[in-house]
Amino acid sequence: MRPFKYEKASSPQDAAKRVSGNKAAKFLAGGTNLVDLMKDNVEHPNELVDINGLKLTQIKSIGKKISIGALAKNKDTANHPLIRKNFPLLTQAILAGASAQIRNMATNGGNLNQRTRCVYFYDEAMPCNKREPGSGCGAMEGLNRMHAIFGWSDKCVAVFPSDMSVALAALGADVFVQDASGNKRKIHIDRYHRLPGDTPEKDNNLKHGELITSIEIPKNKFANHSYYLKVRDRASYAFALVSVGAGLEIDGGVIRGSRIAMGGVAHKPWRAMIAEKELIGKRPSKALFERAAGMEMERAKPLEHNKFKVELGKRAIVRALSNAVG
Ligand SMILES: Cc1cc2nc3c(=O)[nH]c(=O)nc-3n(C[C@H](O)[C@H](O)[C@H](O)COP(=O)(O)OP(=O)(O)OC[C@H]3O[C@@H](n4cnc5c(N)ncnc54)[C@H](O)[C@@H]3O)c2cc1C
Ligand code: SF4
Repeated sequence: MRPFKYEKASSPQDAAKRVSGNKAAKFLAGGTNLVDLMKDNVEHPNELVDINGLKLTQIKSIGKKISIGALAKNKDTANHPLIRKNFPLLTQAILAGASAQIRNMATNGGNLNQRTRCVYFYDEAMPCNKREPGSGCGAMEGLNRMHAIFGWSDKCVAVFPSDMSVALAALGADVFVQDASGNKRKIHIDRYHRLPGDTPEKDNNLKHGELITSIEIPKNKFANHSYYLKVRDRASYAFALVSVGAGLEIDGGVIRGSRIAMGGVAHKPWRAMIAEKELIGKRPSKALFERAAGMEMERAKPLEHNKFKVELGKRAIVRALSNAVG
């Protein structure tokens, strides 16, 4: 472990000021990802600004939205009555991730900003453009079974591992952030995480020193017809091979609204917009779901070892939609 300075932030603005004033400083929330990365010598901040004392833990209803604090624990978010009632999809997604112990520590802001689980990213002996820009991509020529089938570039084929973010993409959430001058802005979840392009070292569109303060989710009519399906190598404590968050608004037996997001397939939660559109105005049926899923997955560009994800993704969309209806 390299030496680093540790300090506690007194307010969101103080936290943002401290981090933005030092390129090598980082916010410390639950530490369940950052501290592991420091131990593995992947991240080496020289200053940690502990934000755990900030009052950003509230989960509350604000008009047509529900706001969840950046520092609310994943466990408290998943189990909150407002979330269980309005967004069971989010509860399912959070509870599908990590372990009970980790969810007790992990925060919502940290979950959005967790880093990829690509094994080459963690292995200092291997090239990795995300860890060390310009060094190459170990996964491109190596084992890429867990990697992307959508939106990858020749610089990086990693996937983003957060289950919670997939549900937030399906629910159309906004992420609220604050900078050192106290300026606030909102970033829609679809624009929050990035595709790798030529700069895979950047996972998201947050500027250095900007602090996530809350996430707002618009109330919707999906609650009775939503589902989060996570397919993984073992039943718990594993990251998704493919996951699907699906929400349907069904009225008079007809699908009036649909949102589908996928995890484990791209560098960000992947909106299955082709499938979403295909469902609108039609009666739910397995044949419809298979057609929509097939149209979506036709765009996939698998790598050498993950061709199975194309059929798996198709089946996962069909299963998630069927469960959402059922
Ligand atoms: C063994 C294991 C299994 C796991 N399995 C899963 C899984 O199946 N699915 C899943 O989704 N996740 C999984 N996780 C990841 C876990 O959900 C994350 O580690 C956790 O959500 C990160 O939250 P944290 O508060 O601990 O963040 P930290 O580790 O404290 O921070 C992570 C990053 O976010 C930044 N950050 C934190 N808060 C803010 C903020 N408010 N504003 C701006 N930046 C911020 C930090 O600077 C850091 O860069 C697993 C983790 C472990 C260790
Ligand atoms: S896929 Fe991305 S994270 Fe993995 S080795 Fe390549 S550049 Fe690094």
